[in-house]
Amino acid sequence: MNPEQAHKPDTVLPDVVMPKCPHRNLLHGQKALVTGANSGIGRSVALHLAREGADVAVNYAFDDASAQAVVAEIKANGGHAIAIKADVSQEEQVQAMFAQMRQEFGTIDILVNNAGLQSDAPFHEMTLAQWNKVINVNLTGQFLCAREAIREFKRRGVVKEISCAAGKIISMSSVHEIIPWSGHVNYAASKGGVMLMNKSLAQEVAPYRIRVNSVCPGAIRTPINRDAWETPEAYADLMKLIPYNRIGEPEDISRAVVWLASDDSDYANGISLFIDGGMTLYPGFAEGG
Ligand code: NAD
Repeated sequence: MNPEQAHKPDTVLPDVVMPKCPHRNLLHGQKALVTGANSGIGRSVALHLAREGADVAVNYAFDDASAQAVVAEIKANGGHAIAIKADVSQEEQVQAMFAQMRQEFGTIDILVNNAGLQSDAPFHEMTLAQWNKVINVNLTGQFLCAREAIREFKRRGVVKEISCAAGKIISMSSVHEIIPWSGHVNYAASKGGVMLMNKSLAQEVAPYRIRVNSVCPGAIRTPINRDAWETPEAYADLMKLIPYNRIGEPEDISRAVVWLASDDSDYANGISLFIDGGMTLYPGFAEGG
């Protein structure tokens, strides 16, 4: 056998179901806010933070029923959660959301800046409204929420019984903070912006023991990218970009967020943690180069 062939799988591997993690109560006593938590990755993150003992504010911009369903699921599992409606791109709504969070929970320890959207178009057809919408939600929304969280973290400082850090921000970035994406220039620009906003912010607030990190998902099975996985043809096409040969599930991301929110990652600050099945490994070069 040609030794090069020996390294290649003969068949497409089946999707493997991940084993459940044991609960470690890693976030006991902590107060978390997850933006865009009524769908996809945000929903899974909210459930996982609650499972680890955090009280969770479930932010949503529309669809009350789906936000209430996440709150109900957390409560059914013995957790504590509230839903807070706010558009993260609107300064007054963000400030009102943080005021409500403080009123209900007293403070905030963990912010997961997750809300995001796409509005795709070839560049020459992209309207200013499409550009602004994506930048306003994906980048300015993260700025507005991070600023409110930082103000509270600095005011309160470290409470050593709760966490080694005065606060943690985890941003949902994307592999597109480094991979260019034709036809999605506004989205890639927003995530590239998130990368340097976060690294600069991490540098600025590290002396206060505040940690700011990003999770960069590859292709995760959620409503935002349904077209990329819904049909067998689309799924097969997607696999050309993923050396690990399966789509990511929201839980792949939630586990990373739990780690970054917990003291287990206390020395991680300003990192971009790629959870992407190898999408950033230039899979095209596996055959060429
Ligand atoms: P999703 O569409 O299921 O979730 C996005 C959430 O953001 C929804 O709850 C939506 O209502 C909310 N949202 C949108 N605009 C908002 C606003 N103005 N204010 C508050 N909430 C708002 O998609 P998802 O895949 O779960 O996306 C979550 C995050 O993950 C996004 O930031 C996205 O860019 C990022 N991401 C997703 C993937 C993927 O493959 N699914 C890959 C990389 C990054």
